[in-house]
Amino acid sequence: MSPKTELIWFDGALVPWDEARVHVMTHTLHYGVGVFEGIRAYKQAGGGSAVFRLKEHVRRLFESAKIVEIAMPFTQERIVEAILETLKANKLEEGYIRPITFIGTGMSFGVSPGKNPIHNAICVWPWGAYLGEEALELGIRIKTSSFARHHVNVMMTKAKVCGNYVNSVLAKTEALADGYDEAMLLDTDGFVSEGSGENIFMVKDGAIKTPPLTSVLSGITRDAIITLARDLGIPLREERFTRDELYTADEAFFSGTAAEITPIREIDRRVIGQGRAGEVTKLLQKEFFRMVKGENPAYASWLHGYTV
Ligand code: PMP
Repeated sequence: MSPKTELIWFDGALVPWDEARVHVMTHTLHYGVGVFEGIRAYKQAGGGSAVFRLKEHVRRLFESAKIVEIAMPFTQERIVEAILETLKANKLEEGYIRPITFIGTGMSFGVSPGKNPIHNAICVWPWGAYLGEEALELGIRIKTSSFARHHVNVMMTKAKVCGNYVNSVLAKTEALADGYDEAMLLDTDGFVSEGSGENIFMVKDGAIKTPPLTSVLSGITRDAIITLARDLGIPLREERFTRDELYTADEAFFSGTAAEITPIREIDRRVIGQGRAGEVTKLLQKEFFRMVKGENPAYASWLHGYTV
């Protein structure tokens, strides 16, 4: 499926996809200090479309910018509006939304960004299941990466910074080359942290565990799952665990805007549970899709409606 849509929002105006270009001396291209988001819009059961947790994603974008000291030239409200404008302009009923804020070219060509201009772009495109439709059903095979997740004083792990993703790309490339679907990264103390672009959960004896927010991104899907588990009365703890604990879990799954809820069926050649999506995973996955598609009124406040 081609990701190309018609229009991209670039610094306040919609421009044709092919004209949304940057200069090769763009500071972010050289040094990686830019921030971005990944957001999804879903067709709604009752008609129309909605962006899932739009305000939270835009808030995280601004928090990422604050962490890396990028002064945003727009307000959060303006970016929310611009995202809706871009979806409507492209007549996209369902798909992925990628806002990115980056440092352009100006007087500074060195490491310090100086007073170089800050640019904002919003791209949207149709995007199905990130790890494949089959993965959502059957689960994926993952591998402990040879790359550790960032130490909290090396990179800012709460910020969705472009440069942080070098670590993710290295881990994902290695996992794919070794015949796995995705990487699982340990933190620098050796505890399970997250996937290359997903948070991780394990289930043992009916209780769920997920690593606390230290080296991992504060996933908005992770937060939705924590809320969902609480509302469903499933015990959940945010607690560190080791890879061998995961090897003997009854179930495991990844969460993320792109990955949604993807079951994990194998880790480092060890089959998890029955080697397919477990009961708790299936229940959370079913309820998550009901939530994002507007089929559960209890979570209506997380859906930002629009029509194309
Ligand atoms: N961890 C990392 C490293 C990610 O890139 C993502 C995707 N944004 C996540 C976790 C999941 O976050 P979210 O549920 O907000 O998409």
